[in-house]
Amino acid sequence: MASSRTLGTFRLPPLPTIREIIKLFRLQAVKQLSQNFLLDLRLTDKIVRKAGNLTNAYVYEVGPGPGGITRSILNAGVAELLVVEKDSRFIPGLQMLSDAAPGKLRIVHGDVLTFKIERAFPESLKRQWEDDPPNVHIIGNLPFSVSTPLIIKWLENVSQRNGPFTYGRTRMMLTFQKEVAERLTATTGSKQRSRLSIMAQYLCDVQHILTIPGQAFVPKPEVDSGVVHFTPLPRPRIEQPFKLVEKVVQNAFQFRRKYCHRGLGMLFPEAQRLESTGKLLESADVDPTLRPTQLTVSHFKSLCDVYRKMCDEDPHLFAYNFREELRQKSEKRG
Ligand code: SAM
Repeated sequence: MASSRTLGTFRLPPLPTIREIIKLFRLQAVKQLSQNFLLDLRLTDKIVRKAGNLTNAYVYEVGPGPGGITRSILNAGVAELLVVEKDSRFIPGLQMLSDAAPGKLRIVHGDVLTFKIERAFPESLKRQWEDDPPNVHIIGNLPFSVSTPLIIKWLENVSQRNGPFTYGRTRMMLTFQKEVAERLTATTGSKQRSRLSIMAQYLCDVQHILTIPGQAFVPKPEVDSGVVHFTPLPRPRIEQPFKLVEKVVQNAFQFRRKYCHRGLGMLFPEAQRLESTGKLLESADVDPTLRPTQLTVSHFKSLCDVYRKMCDEDPHLFAYNFREELRQKSEKRG
């Protein structure tokens, strides 16, 4: 009890401001790397509070940069914070933070796309998937070019319960370009409804919890950011392999403005397209004249279940790629 109280009340000692750290270590943002920093610690505190209660938590922060969010996480009373930063220029500033928070901050100079978090925290943190989420959180403000491929990779990890989800239903809070945050959380029928909405929402409870205006960052990026919180669901809304769901969803959204049968038809070779698309939609009980944006996650569940059966009946079907068929045809013509 005493030790958890001590952990919960930890505060960093007075330190140079983030602006001073940037000056001291000459940490000018590299535009090509989309580095935009948060300097206002009241804002980083507000962002970190949105992750929930971090008392005694094990936190994995991706892309800490000069350490604004890092300080707020440390002040939230975490048991341990592990940060992974790719740009070596930030390591001395982070080291200064580590000295100010003895035993709490672990710094890894590495790439979040390859770093293996699954062995980094104590085994004892692991929970059964159906149990409450473990006290492990992922937090990050990464360049937009990294956060979108990363969330796709992590959603696949959620579906396979590996990577950061070896601990159980690890929660994540990440920033995206505002438009991407809106796509991730878009409801059925909305303009932003897209492939990302389905892929995120069939596996997680997804909340767009905060919009950060561009002017909050230094230097100011061209667009606003959206902070999105993900909690993996105890039971995914579609119980099929990730790659199969991805294929159905990608094809469905191929022609966003057309009826859904157009995109879904591309799952099948041209010679059998009409017949197989009809069979898919009829067996899944999906109206072929709905637009892709009007399809619910439950529609996608039925479509994936029926497509899976069709793939089991025809072992070549899953490997079929309509672009490849088009390419071969044009080669023959040429
Ligand atoms: N989190 C800091 C903040 O909010 O002020 C910095 C944000 S800046 C947009 C993104 C940070 O992620 C930079 O420090 C950059 O060097 C780092 N970064 C970019 N790609 C990375 C990668 N693949 N792995 C780890 N860090 C990365």
